[in-house]
Amino acid sequence: MKIINPATGAALIDVVADTAKTVREKYARARAAQPKWAATPIRKRLAAIGKFREILVDRIPELARTLSLEVGKPIRQSRNELNGLTGRIDFFVKETERALREEKVHADGPMEERIGHEPLGVIANISAWNYPYFVGGNVFVPALAAGNAVLYKPSEFATLTGMHIADMLHAAGVPDDVFVLVVGDGKTGTAVLQQPVDGVFFTGSYATGAKIAASTGRRMIKTQLELGGKDPIYVADDVDVKAAAAAVADGAFYNTGQSCCSVERVYVHKKIYGAFVDAFVAEVKGFKVGDPLVESTYIGAITRKPQIAILQRQVTDAKKKGARVLTGGAPIKGKGNWFAPTVLADVDHSMSVMRDESFGPIIGLQAVDDDEAAVDLMNDTDYGLTAGVYSADEKRAKKILKRVNAGTVYWNCCDRVSPRLPWSGVKHSGIGLTLSTYGIQTFTRPKAWHLKSA
Ligand code: NAD
Repeated sequence: MKIINPATGAALIDVVADTAKTVREKYARARAAQPKWAATPIRKRLAAIGKFREILVDRIPELARTLSLEVGKPIRQSRNELNGLTGRIDFFVKETERALREEKVHADGPMEERIGHEPLGVIANISAWNYPYFVGGNVFVPALAAGNAVLYKPSEFATLTGMHIADMLHAAGVPDDVFVLVVGDGKTGTAVLQQPVDGVFFTGSYATGAKIAASTGRRMIKTQLELGGKDPIYVADDVDVKAAAAAVADGAFYNTGQSCCSVERVYVHKKIYGAFVDAFVAEVKGFKVGDPLVESTYIGAITRKPQIAILQRQVTDAKKKGARVLTGGAPIKGKGNWFAPTVLADVDHSMSVMRDESFGPIIGLQAVDDDEAAVDLMNDTDYGLTAGVYSADEKRAKKILKRVNAGTVYWNCCDRVSPRLPWSGVKHSGIGLTLSTYGIQTFTRPKAWHLKSA
């Protein structure tokens, strides 16, 4: 399998992909190794995770460079991701013991009732490329901490990062057969899912997630799907326009718009629409596009080439239906995969750019009459990952957000994830959750203990 630098189109290196046979063998090794790992005291498991964090911190410059080379992410954002992962690891290390402690819930004479937490067993962790350290770490860190063995298949677009992760975990003391790297594309992912795993934890697109749900549905195994989004922001008429425009533009274009929680739709109260649009466009025109390895770059490459045609189709469709292209609107010519940061004004819900996940540096702005219209439009979507409101009035914002059907809601912020809060979606954004103490317990099954002492 060739690893390509999306910023230049050049081949970086060839790696050997797994075959159906090697996937079977890897599964068998993980199955054999899991009971011993589960029996290892939790503090020892957590110590290995802590050591993994130490090794990672020592290697941040090199790991960030690899990530930027293989996915086209601006180097500062690669470093931010690695530093962000350390915060998530700290949360898991601190909270796992408490989250998994056996709990006495009832006592009555000789009778006692307790809830225990058992690891699921061998789980499949099939991951996306856009934040490989985050979306991988959200799964493999708590899964390992809870005593599971993990078959980890990174995205074929983040393979080198996946290899680094495996090396660091093994160097940290997680046995080779407990965290097992599987290399390859969707076909390899299918081979992983054909093994009798005890749980599937997938991060990726709705299209793939729906296929996986169909294939695991009959097997009665835990299936968690963290999928796409079409995340809206509503900007009310009482904001500091310039500050809100800067914050929302960052939420839409950070990571080159390739985040599951990127802002993908913006509704602006009609009273400030003109001023907001001007401030927003000025902000976007200031974004530096270029070589991901250059410190000042803010917009990097499009990781997957086919996405360029999707972005182009969304622009063409919007223009045909009456939208104005205020900046960008086309791929950037030259080597590699590039699309100019694009702002479309006067969009509406007949346009694909307001309905289908863009996953790139492109955004639509739409004027709305009032809060009521904003709520209706925010909910008019197949997705439900995050949604936000910018307003000077907390009560007004909360009233709106209470009615928005999304896993995460933001007041005066966006494109933000916290290890302390559950990360989940509704509708086509998926099922299940990661992060928070729920995101530790999700890698276990509860065992109900009825204990009678006489
Ligand atoms: P993708 O669906 O193309 O691929 C995801 C993973 O699934 C890859 O490892 C791929 O090799 C594998 N795969 C593909 N077909 C498969 C099959 N039939 N069986 C098993 N595995 C298969 O998604 P992507 O392009 O890597 O990621 C982008 C998508 O992920 C976007 O939609 C984004 O919103 C979403 N995402 C969601 C979250 C979240 O937390 N909700 C986080 C990051 C990304």
